[in-house]
Amino acid sequence: MEDVLVPRGPMILGKPSKRPMALRPIVKYPELVLSTRSEAVSAIDAEIRRLVADMVETMHAAPGVGLAANQVGITRRVAVVDLSVGKDPSALVVLINPRVTSTQGHQVDEEGCLSLPGITEMVPRPLRAEVEATNLDGKTFQVRAEGLMARALLHEIDHLDGLLFLDRLSPLKRRLVRKKIQKLIRAGEWTGVGA
Ligand code: ZN
Repeated sequence: MEDVLVPRGPMILGKPSKRPMALRPIVKYPELVLSTRSEAVSAIDAEIRRLVADMVETMHAAPGVGLAANQVGITRRVAVVDLSVGKDPSALVVLINPRVTSTQGHQVDEEGCLSLPGITEMVPRPLRAEVEATNLDGKTFQVRAEGLMARALLHEIDHLDGLLFLDRLSPLKRRLVRKKIQKLIRAGEWTGVGA
């Protein structure tokens, strides 16, 4: 996993009608925006479409299987998930104003986050989750997910509520991970901080 993204900047290639796209820098822990609860999207306008397109590109480039808007500094309730990391276009899920409608069971598995580069921990989550969200056409849809997909959806929705996977660890484990990160920050080895 690459930790540092080099923003390509707006690109206009080929036809003049082609929408400019851009990679957006990913915000790293402990920046405040990551612990901020995001606001609902009231209208799917050009700005939201642009944000989603940039988020998909940024997630694929990282590479990662999910990205929430506050990870690129925008506190709106928008997230993208793609377990195929761009290999299968049908695997991409764009979630606007997602909410968890039910959860079931229990799983503990390894989890990482693009805002916590190089840190993975065993994180407890529900095994299954049902999520309701709006797509880019403004239509409400439901996702019934299990295993890794449930984990990814719950991880991204946590981001929109200002939570990181660290918040799902035991207090002792969370303290240990925070100490480890503070050490990396002091050593200048925590990429992205202050950038
Ligand atoms: Zn994350």
